[in-house]
This record gives sequence, C-alpha cells and structure tokens, in this order.
Amino acid sequence: MQALIIGGGIIGLSTAFYLQEDGWQVTVLEKGDLSDNCSFGNMGYLSPSHFVPLAAPGIISQGLFWLFQKKSPFYVRPVPSLALIDWGLKFLRAATPEHVDRSARPLLDLLLLSKTLFQDWAASGDLQFGLTEKGCLMYYQTEKYEKSELETAKKAEQLGLQVEVLGREQVQTIEPDARPDVRGGVLYKDDAHLNPNILMQQLPALLEKRGVKIIRNAEVTGFERQGGKITAVHYRQTDTSSFAKATADTQDAQVVLAAGSWSPQVARLAGEHLPLMPGKGYSMTIDNTVQQLHYPCILAEAKVALTPWPNRLRIGSTMEIGPINDRILLARVQGILEAVPRFMPGLARDPAFQALADPAQLKAQARQKVWYGFRPVSADGMPYIGYAHKNKNLIVATGHAMLGISLGAGTGKVVSELASGKPTSVALQAFDPRRY
Ligand SMILES: Cc1cc2nc3c(=O)[nH]c(=O)nc-3n(C[C@H](O)[C@H](O)[C@H](O)COP(=O)(O)OP(=O)(O)OC[C@H]3O[C@@H](n4cnc5c(N)ncnc54)[C@H](O)[C@@H]3O)c2cc1C
Repeated sequence: MQALIIGGGIIGLSTAFYLQEDGWQVTVLEKGDLSDNCSFGNMGYLSPSHFVPLAAPGIISQGLFWLFQKKSPFYVRPVPSLALIDWGLKFLRAATPEHVDRSARPLLDLLLLSKTLFQDWAASGDLQFGLTEKGCLMYYQTEKYEKSELETAKKAEQLGLQVEVLGREQVQTIEPDARPDVRGGVLYKDDAHLNPNILMQQLPALLEKRGVKIIRNAEVTGFERQGGKITAVHYRQTDTSSFAKATADTQDAQVVLAAGSWSPQVARLAGEHLPLMPGKGYSMTIDNTVQQLHYPCILAEAKVALTPWPNRLRIGSTMEIGPINDRILLARVQGILEAVPRFMPGLARDPAFQALADPAQLKAQARQKVWYGFRPVSADGMPYIGYAHKNKNLIVATGHAMLGISLGAGTGKVVSELASGKPTSVALQAFDPRRY
C-alpha cells in the first residue's frame, strides 16, 4: 500500500500521519521547504463553534458593503478570471439557509472528530503544540451583531455545544487587562487553540522519524495516467532545477491532493476541475506583551481574531479573494490593528502593540511584521474530501478555508479510512468533491 501526498500543509501532513499509522508506505511531495505555508501563521483555533459554512445568507450583502471600504476585512481582487467568475457564481448559488442547515451537522461532526484527535496527539506526548482548552469568545458591540450572535449561540446549543452568554461586566472581570468595550460575548466552551507554528515544525519531524518520506522543494508538474488511474507523479526539484518522478505503481497506490490554494492548478494537470479560490489573510504576532489577554476571541463586527499565548499575542483577519500574490495591502492591515483599541482599550496600551500599530514603522517593516497565508476557499464553503471525478486513485483533501487547522487531524483520519476502503469515522457525502 503506497500513498503519494501532494502538499505538506496541515492537511497533507495529517493525512500522512494516519496513513503511516495504518501501515501505508507514504511519500509527501512539497514544493516549499516546510518552513511556511498557510498552516503556520494562522490563529490556531480549533473551532467546533464554526459549524456555519462560509457560503451563508447575509455574507453576500455584507461582502458587497465591505467591498468598497479599503480597510474592511473582505475584498475581491477584480481580475478578469474565468475561475473567479465560476467560483463566484457557485458561491452565490450556495449561500442559502438550506445549505447552512444541511452543512451544520456534517461540519460539526468532522470538527469534533478533529478536536478529539488533536487531544490524542497532545496526550500521546509525541507532539507538544500548546493545546489549550479554554474556549473562544465571540464579542459584539452593537445590537445588530448581538442578535445574530445569540441566534448562532442558540443553534450551537441545539447541536449539543456548550455555550455561555456573558454580559459586559462579566467579560471585563475575566479580562481585567484588556477591558473589552463590548455589549457582551458568547463563550464557546468546546473551542480550543494551539500553536500552529510549533505543530507545523514538530509534525514533519515526527513523520520522518516514523518512516514517512518527505521530499522538500518538490513541485508537482504533471501526472502519468493509465486506465483511469494515476501511475506516476512528476515533480521538479526547485532547489536543483532537476526533474524526477514518484511512481504510484502498486495496485493499491493512492494519490492525495492536499495542495491548499494551489490545488486547482494541480488538479487540472490530472484532468480534474476544482472550483477553489485563494483567500488571503494577514496576521501579526507581538512578543513580551505586558497587558495579558486570557481567552482567544473574535471581534464580531471587525472580523478580527486574537490569540493569546504567554506574553505573546497574535492578531489576524481579512479575506482577500483573488489570485496568489505577494502584495501586502497596508490599509487592510491597519484596518485589523485599528479594531484593537475600539474593542480592547487595555490591550492597545501595551507598548508592544503600540510599536506594531505605529503607521510609519508598519510601513517601513511590513515584510518583517506582517505574515500572510492563502486559505483554500471552496465554492460553497465546505471542504472537498473524497475521490476525484476522473482518476480512480486520486483523493482530494482541500478547500478547508477558515477551518484547515480545526479540521486538520479529522481530515487526515477520514482520508486514510477512505484510502483503505474502511467505513469513515464521519459521513463524507457533504464533502464529496464530485458535487461540482
Ligand atoms: C490569517 C489566517 C488565520 C487563520 N486562522 C485559522 C484558525 O484559527 N483555525 C483554523 O482552523 N484555520 C485557520 N486558518 C485557515 C488555515 O490556516 C488553512 O485552512 C490551512 O492552513 C490550509 O491547510 P492546507 O494544508 O490545505 O494548505 P497549506 O497549508 O497552504 O499547504 C498546502 C501545501 O501544498 C504545497 N503545494 C502547493 N502546490 C504544490 C505542488 N504543485 N507541488 C507540491 N506541493 C505543492 C504548498 O507549498 C503548501 O505547503 C487561517 C488562515 C489565515 C490566512
């Protein structure tokens, strides 16, 4: 049993973990050197609370409103692209109440499976990535957002999640330094967070120790196909400019496409169509913070997330839909930072935050201070997990958008089950890539 995995982000590496555990001989092909990808600088949330797919009613009108504000958290880069038009039309069609209702249970099942598996990883002692189980707070300042957050909280309770609604004074008591200036917040107690940078450093090392072959700087450039199956994967060694191929020559060989935002291009090389757009997001991390935040939180109106670690704070947001590029839109980064004094006046007094938010310093050092990553955003906000259309031995595992860390271990587990022909731990119909 031989598996070739394309992509060394959280999805590819989690898949490698479970396939190796199940006795497969695993090779990971990764075009970078595994020092950065979308799975590194994200907020590290494990979010069972995020059972509403991205394509949901309300997002379109909200998105249109934000589209014309240069500091808003949402942006579509206007480029003449058939892929963008195809994706956009599908997204519009998917954003219905029925889609949200249909998707909540399967999404939550995979989120909860994934969280249990991360707990197992942490308990095993083989990986220590700062798993912290104290929930996540969703803060709101306005009546409009309070109403919508309370509706979501009610749905969460109906689905079996533990939720507590906290008033202004209660949140100021649990966050004495930050002093949130809000109407209140919803505490999702099943949520957790981890340090993604540490996880993404430790996971490849553990996999290699266990016999997984990881080929770094290996960019997949093509496939050999025979009888409806992939028989070889061609790659270019980007550090030496040489070409090579990894063969999938056994009867049971499986290929897993986990190339994140690059997946549509790789899929096309295998004759497959995958409607997916990169959704660029930014984060900034400050060290030696004096004002401590105790709970990870999302500032609802601003769509800004904050993750605390001891003496360290990460601030992140923005969904910039468009082709992959290395530009940093400073206005949007400033939009993220300006939300902090509005919601968390105490944190904004921290010298480390003030140094980060200083516009002149930010402009001069944007490349050092601002991290960005490309979320692989599917056309209906649900990941693609399952067999591809045209290649019998190609499993697609991508499109996790804002939930790639949350769903990482769970996706790895179900892909390994699928590859082995076993019943999957959760139902996968809602994630079938052949829905498009
Ligand atoms: C600001 C921000 C905050 C976020 N916060 C959270 C959070 O709190 N919780 C959460 O669950 N999710 C979060 N996310 C989303 C999460 O980071 C992503 O969903 C996840 O990292 C996607 O993982 P991946 O493995 O699919 O893709 P990636 O991590 O991008 O990995 C894909 C890999 O494939 C490789 N590759 C591409 N093409 C090829 C090729 N041709 N050949 C070989 N290799 C190739 C790439 O080099 C890359 O290493 C956040 C994202 C952002 C941007």
